Amino acid sequence: MKKINLLVKTLFGGLVILLPVLAQAQTIQVSLDAQGLSERELIRVREASVRVEEVFNDPEFAQRILAFGQATGVGFQESQGLDNGEILERIQRGVELCGGGELHRVDLRIQGYISFNPWSRVPGQVKNGDCRIWLNRKYLRDPEWRVADIAGTLAHEWMHLLGFTHAYRETSLRSFSVPYAIGEMVTERVVERGE
Ligand SMILES: [Zn+2]
Repeated sequence: MKKINLLVKTLFGGLVILLPVLAQAQTIQVSLDAQGLSERELIRVREASVRVEEVFNDPEFAQRILAFGQATGVGFQESQGLDNGEILERIQRGVELCGGGELHRVDLRIQGYISFNPWSRVPGQVKNGDCRIWLNRKYLRDPEWRVADIAGTLAHEWMHLLGFTHAYRETSLRSFSVPYAIGEMVTERVVERGE
């Protein structure tokens, strides 16, 4: 009888430990729908979206979100009142505010554009009430703009679609906003993992 009890306890203990691990392991899928790009630009954007999917499913990436701010003392800014765990959860749920988003699916609806301003330093943007991510084709054509940079831009813009914002003008804390911090983290992680 004692033996059975012990076995049940062990099984139960094992389940309790196992369940959160399973919950975290839910795969995040990235779906790409791109318009207004040349074939070459599309190839780079497609590659970047694959990198985003890899990084979003990378336990190290999740760890870095959870630990964000511990080393510097400055945590996520303009976090909508969410703590690090809740920000990670919102990313993993993948439900865009513009509606129709499926659970655990990152919908990248890309629209390429050419800026009227040839000196524009905006690689991407989103517009209110629009599910699309507008990518500045000047950057997609620039060989110095790596796939890792495109992946970071996609992640940054997609954070806006999850409802995260940042100051329009550059401030000392803007790089700690969720879109900038996560975009930077994705670029870093793509570089570390190797292209
Ligand atoms: Zn932004």
